Order: sequence, then structure tokens, then C-alpha cells
Amino acid sequence: SNFNVAIDGPAGSGKSTIAKKIAQIFNLYYLDSGALYRAFGYYLKKKNFDLNNENDIINALKTFNVKIINGDYYLFDEKLDFQIRTPEIGKAASIVAKNPFVREKVNEILRNIAKKHGVVIDGRDIGTVVLPDAEVKIFLTASIQERAERRYKELIGKGKNVKLEDILKDIEKRDKADSTRKIAPLKPADDAIIVDTTGKNIETVVKEIKNIILN
Ligand code: C5P
Repeated sequence: SNFNVAIDGPAGSGKSTIAKKIAQIFNLYYLDSGALYRAFGYYLKKKNFDLNNENDIINALKTFNVKIINGDYYLFDEKLDFQIRTPEIGKAASIVAKNPFVREKVNEILRNIAKKHGVVIDGRDIGTVVLPDAEVKIFLTASIQERAERRYKELIGKGKNVKLEDILKDIEKRDKADSTRKIAPLKPADDAIIVDTTGKNIETVVKEIKNIILN
């Protein structure tokens, strides 16, 4: 089978930045599983469906069509970018992610790609559920304060008008929801290596993970 790397962790732990770099270094295909949950949450909102209504979710799943082209995500013909990166869509993603049929759909998309290419996938349950046989499993963590600051800087950098304390509260809520849900809760796989990124820059973390993969 292909060489696969699972990178899991809570919101703002640096998963996507790190996963992209690791994919580049090892010539693997990068997949952002959170983007698929966000895309589905965004789709429901666009259709004015109720995120908490199971029938709405089932109906939306019938027509939900996400394509990944050159690392970009498309909902039908709409390229998904900043519109799925808002705190509102993050929250929507976390709500729909509790539904087993939604998870099945996302897992199927991810596994189909992992059949054809070696992948680096970032998410919450990649090492535990999506790719339990991944060659390398990393669980990224960082203090909640630092994760909130990273998100804050990212959003401010994009010209968004946000407050640090709101972001902190959002992240706290989403962490709690993600780690206490019954299905595929956020937690390290038994064989995951935990990497605490608090106080470390991106290069340091990339080097650390590169060494884990090479050893
Ligand atoms: O990683 P990101 O912040 O984009 O993920 C958005 C939400 O999608 C998470 O808070 C989580 O509820 C859900 N998610 C998940 N499983 C994954 C990836 C994301 O449940 N593998």
C-alpha cells in the first residue's frame, strides 16, 4: 500500500501548515479533511437547510458534490476559499461532523484518494478511523492560548475584524464538542506520536516530524 501520514489535533494546532510542508518534502498528496466538513456545513447553510436536522442532512448528502483539483476544493463549480474559513463555518462543520452519514461520506472521499496516492491527511480522526494503518501518525497539540493567538493573527492578517477573546472561546467550544462526541472523537491514536508545538516555530516542528518519518 501507499505511504500515508496522519496528522491529527485540535483547532489551531498548526495541522494544515505542517501537513502541507510534510507532503511537499515527501512528495505526498496533501488532503485537508476539515475542509470537507466545512464544505458540507457551507453547503447546508447555502441551501438554507437546518444543520441540526437529520433529514436535511440526508437530503443534502444526496447532492453534495465536492471535487479536489490540484489541491483546491470545489463545491460544484464554486472554488472554496475564505468563505469556508470563517468561525461560523467552523462551527457548522463541527455540528455536521457529528452525523455518521456525513463522516462516512467524507471518509470515502479521503480513502479513495489514499488508494491512488500516498497522502498526508490532517484532521481529528485520521489516525484513529480514516487511516488506522497509516505508516506515521502525529498528534499535534499546543496550549489553548497559543492556538487562539495563531488563529487571531491569521484572521487579522486577512483583514478580518476579530477579537482574541472571542476566538479563544470559539476554539474552546469546538475542542470540547470535538473531543466529547460519541463518534470519532478527537483523540490521539494509541500509536500516535504526540508533538507539542507550544513556543515552537513552523520550521522546528517540520524538522521534528521529518525526523520521526525518517526514523
Ligand atoms: O480542521 P478544521 O478546523 O477545518 O475542522 C473543522 C471541523 O470539522 C472540526 O472542528 C471538526 O468538528 C470537524 N472535523 C472532524 N474530523 C476531521 C476533520 C474535521 O470531525 N477529520
